[in-house]
Amino acid sequence: MRPLHALFLTSALLVSACGTRSVEVAEGASDGAVDVGATPSSTSTSTSTSTTTTTSTTTTSTTTTTSTTTTTTTVPLPLAFDDEGVPVNGQTDGVVLTTTGWVVPVLEPQGDGWRVWTPCGREAVISTGTFLGEVDFVLDPGHGGSEPGAVGPNGTRESDLNLQVARRVRDALEGDGFTVLLTRDSDMRVPIVTRAEIALALDPIANISIHHNAGTDAISSEPGTEMFFQLASADSKRLAGLLYEETRAFLDPLGTRWYALDDAGAMGRENREGGDYYGVLRRPAAVTSVLAEFAYLTNPVEEELLNRADVQDGLAEAVRASVQRFLETDDPGSGFTVDPIFRGYGPSGAGRTTNCTDPALE
Ligand SMILES: [Zn+2]
Repeated sequence: MRPLHALFLTSALLVSACGTRSVEVAEGASDGAVDVGATPSSTSTSTSTSTTTTTSTTTTSTTTTTSTTTTTTTVPLPLAFDDEGVPVNGQTDGVVLTTTGWVVPVLEPQGDGWRVWTPCGREAVISTGTFLGEVDFVLDPGHGGSEPGAVGPNGTRESDLNLQVARRVRDALEGDGFTVLLTRDSDMRVPIVTRAEIALALDPIANISIHHNAGTDAISSEPGTEMFFQLASADSKRLAGLLYEETRAFLDPLGTRWYALDDAGAMGRENREGGDYYGVLRRPAAVTSVLAEFAYLTNPVEEELLNRADVQDGLAEAVRASVQRFLETDDPGSGFTVDPIFRGYGPSGAGRTTNCTDPALE
């Protein structure tokens, strides 16, 4: 994980020196023009002997030289799964942006392409696409495809809204010179374990999962914004507190009949084992991650607000400002919920690798 302040200093210098951070992008491994990152270490073993005979007029001498080179071809390790048949996170390094618009984590370069982790969490070998080794921020537009998430009273699908806001956040962060990648950039279903693997494979400063809420119709004079952080990560908690603070600073002046639970704020949510309940936080544990529930899509008043371009821009600016404060200051953030309401242990049901059909990857 890159040291935060050192990284910011570097990127600040890079931004001041070269305007925008460049990220190495290789068009396929075959052209050899760009190192696509670690190639599988391969030594090979084969025994060969060669005999050379030299004859001189006075004496005949036969010298035999035996040379052995050892070549052991490393057999690629198959994708490892847990006992529920879900791939184990942390097996990949870098991603390939496929020509068909998907982001697939790389298990290893192979031949003139890569062996990859497919969207449904299986293996495939592809030879086209663009390799990306790392980015500064991963943005995860929640839900997608056959999983729309919440649906507003006037039909707004959360998955569409999440993607619209995520694209604006990407523009805002890129405007500050950061490199950013979305886990999906169209309406597609990506299981949570794969979203987590994409975040792990790109070693970002932070991974922000973008959502809009449902689940209560309790009227409040204040927004019901909720930011969930990783229970064991002080960085995740601080980023969540800053995201909460900046989002509220933007939404509050819009004064409306908000939906909110009494414990709205920045909080952790435990699963039955005491770990993080949300897979997008639990699985990429090595990456500072926050799940952002900006406002309640199921509230008709908020649905209307959230569909406005200026409001989506305002949310994107709130994220950009939070990131800047996260990197440039020691501000602790605020709005931390002391005693969150128990939200149950039941599975969210979304984002599993079951009933998943892999798309064409080239
Ligand atoms: Zn959601």
